Amino acid sequence: PQTHLIAANWKMNGVKASLPIARTIAEQSRGLQARVALFPPATLLPLMADVLQGTDIVLGGQDCHHADSGAYTGDISAPMLKDAGASMVILGHSERRHGHLEPCALVARKSLAALRAGLEPIICIGETLDQRQAGLTIPVLSRQLADSVTSDLKGQAFHVSYEPVWAIGTGLVASDAQILEAFALIREHLDKHFGTNAPQVLYGGSVKASNAAHLLALEGVGGALVGGASLTVEDFMPIIRAAD
Ligand code: 13P
Repeated sequence: PQTHLIAANWKMNGVKASLPIARTIAEQSRGLQARVALFPPATLLPLMADVLQGTDIVLGGQDCHHADSGAYTGDISAPMLKDAGASMVILGHSERRHGHLEPCALVARKSLAALRAGLEPIICIGETLDQRQAGLTIPVLSRQLADSVTSDLKGQAFHVSYEPVWAIGTGLVASDAQILEAFALIREHLDKHFGTNAPQVLYGGSVKASNAAHLLALEGVGGALVGGASLTVEDFMPIIRAAD
């Protein structure tokens, strides 16, 4: 089986005083199976790159602009993330799709910008509670896949993360059946458009020490995208160990 990718999305958390957390995670992850990636706020990227130098920990940004440079006040481009030490970037997270009204087509453009800069995108998809309750989960995920995980990505290194919006930060975890149904749909899309080198698929949404081993053992789950439980060494290390 593929090496699990265990990704820490720190979201809008972390200041310089948080850097020792990254150092300790790197030290304690040495020799473990998982591929570990940290996604701190952009302000910490260059400093964290220094801290992680010489380790196997991968560094990434939480979003990028679709253009490489220009008059876009407040935005950060993919080449800037790369320059700051990132090699991956999270795109289409629900907090961008819903909080910043980012449509699928924009997520697709951002993923091309990421690839141009040599970053591996993790493209997130997921349905809201309203959509699930209305029986729209499959059509919503299908549309997000079609419009934000496009065949322009063929032959490129990227990942997809299934993050049901109602499971993010709520303590609610999708059931095995819900995860397997979504993953089957994602797999079908990936196999159809990307063939044999189809990318790894992660699960995100209230992953924690007590459920990580179970979730990572589910058929097709290639890793986890972890929010709240990635902010401390005590919470995050057991998730990395669960991937062994
Ligand atoms: P939580 O792990 O806090 O539910 O967040 C999940 C997430 O959004 C990761 O990107």
